[in-house]
Amino acid sequence: MLQHTIDHEIVIEGIGLHSGVNSKLTLKPLAANKGVVFEQKQGSITEEIKAQWSNVVDTRNCTCIGKQNGVKISTIEHLMAALYIRGIDNVLIQTDSRELPIMDGSAAYFYKKLISAGIKEQEEPRQYLKIKRDISFEDEKNNKIELKPYDKGLKIHFEIDFPSKIVGHQIFDSDITEDVFLSEIAPCRTFCEKYQVDYLQSIGLIKGGSLENAVVLDGDKVLNPEGLRHPHECVNHKVLDAIGDLYTSGYQIIGELKASRTGHYHNNELLKILFADQSNYELV
Ligand SMILES: [Zn+2]
Repeated sequence: MLQHTIDHEIVIEGIGLHSGVNSKLTLKPLAANKGVVFEQKQGSITEEIKAQWSNVVDTRNCTCIGKQNGVKISTIEHLMAALYIRGIDNVLIQTDSRELPIMDGSAAYFYKKLISAGIKEQEEPRQYLKIKRDISFEDEKNNKIELKPYDKGLKIHFEIDFPSKIVGHQIFDSDITEDVFLSEIAPCRTFCEKYQVDYLQSIGLIKGGSLENAVVLDGDKVLNPEGLRHPHECVNHKVLDAIGDLYTSGYQIIGELKASRTGHYHNNELLKILFADQSNYELV
C-alpha cells in the first residue's frame, strides 16, 4: 500500500466549541512522509505542529497539541478520525485559530469534506503500526485501556457506564472499516451532562456549545429536541474520539483497542507506553 494525500485544497469553517469564535481550516496536499501537520498563523508568526502523541499538551475535554512556547491547537480528534478512516497519510492544515471548528459535534461533516477533497496516491510505501504484545494503562479509578495484537486491522471494544438511564452500560465491539465508521461512528456526536455544561460555562469554556453541536443529557432526558441519532450514540462517539487519538501515533494500526470508561487522557498515556518500548510494536 502506498501513502496518500488529498487531491486538492479544501476549506472547512465553523465555530469553535470552547472559544465560540469562527475557525477556518485550509487543508492542502502534503509531500509523502510528512504526516498530518497543522500550520497555525498568529499575527506575523507561523508555527508548525505535527499531530502526534508527543505534541499532545492537554487532554481535558478534547485533545490539544502544542509547543513549549505556548502555541496550541485544540479539538483535533474528530478531524483526525476522519483522516484516519479516509487513509490520508499526509496533509497540511493551515489555520489562524487555536481550536478546530466543532461543526455538529460529530465527524460526519469532516468525512464529507474529505470525500470532496479527493485522494491522491503518492510514491512512498505506507508503514502500518502492528501491535506485538499486550500493553495497558489503568488510572486510579480502574478505568482501563489496552492494545493487543490482532491481525485483521483495527478492532475496537469500548465500554462505558453512566448513571443516566439514557446511556447506562453501552458496548461497542467491531472491526473498524470505512463502512462501519460511516454508518455507526461518524454521525455520533459529543455528549455531556447538563450540570457539566453549567460548570464548563462558568469557567469560560464551551462558549460555542449548543444543542446544535452536542448531545446534552439531563438526568434521564435528552435535551436535544431531535433525540439521539443512534441508540448507542454515546459509546460510539467515544470510539470516534479513540480513532482520532490513535491517529496521533502517525500510523494506521493493526491491533485491538480495548477500553473501559476512558477518554483522551488515557488514549495519550497508552501511546506514550506503546512508544516507550520498541518491542511493543513493529512497523510493517
Ligand atoms: Zn469527541
